[in-house]
Amino acid sequence: CGIVAYLGHREACPIILKGLHRLEYRGYDSAGVALLNGDLNVYKKKGKVSDLESYIAEKDTHATVGMGHTRWATHGEPNDENAHPHYSTSERIAIIHNGIIENYAALKTHLQQQGHVFHSDTDTEVFVNLIEEIQKQNSCSLEEAVRLALHEVVGAYAIVVLSKDAPNQLIAARKGSPMVIGIGEGEFFIASDATPIIEYTNEVVYVNDYEIVVIRDGQLDIRSKEDVSQTPYIQKLEMEL
Ligand code: GLU
Repeated sequence: CGIVAYLGHREACPIILKGLHRLEYRGYDSAGVALLNGDLNVYKKKGKVSDLESYIAEKDTHATVGMGHTRWATHGEPNDENAHPHYSTSERIAIIHNGIIENYAALKTHLQQQGHVFHSDTDTEVFVNLIEEIQKQNSCSLEEAVRLALHEVVGAYAIVVLSKDAPNQLIAARKGSPMVIGIGEGEFFIASDATPIIEYTNEVVYVNDYEIVVIRDGQLDIRSKEDVSQTPYIQKLEMEL
């Protein structure tokens, strides 16, 4: 029910965990993070953000790119496997998702026929495998695969996608679920609302439905569903710490 992502020059994990705490008021049953640092590591647990923190205390969480999620289960009971982030079958792409993919069952059958393997009962795991399949079939960029996947899913979503093959990049999109981008000095934040962001920057962009956000090479690019670059409307928030 909450998302946080970071790309910049600082350690991502503490920023993400603090952000997830700030989003706790939204309610959730599980929490997880994905950290990109050569490897793409996913750590997730049923329970509180504090349970996730104890679980990862001994793990290698060093990374300057990452994302975190608090889940409010809609498809699949609250457990460790169903918690986000979810990997694609190759484990090269990871996704976090708030919302519901209504046509996930048909997509899942199709993807299973293509050889994709599922480890959870969620609609979200279908989404990330769809992105992987589209990228494979079209030999296209991750961004293009996400854009094409969005044309096939029916439902509501705020997603963030990370790929091992795109080490310094965050891709995000929304329809019907909230998303705001924070723009700092050489760093970017993505969250469900501004509360995880205000500590670091007061410059934010509220993402509109059907927009795709690409953060790459220190640049923010917001594109329409038809792949036309949009001029971001940057708002200044009042800082209240
Ligand atoms: N539909 C997804 C799931 O059940 C996402 C739920 C959410 O918004 O947290 O895993």
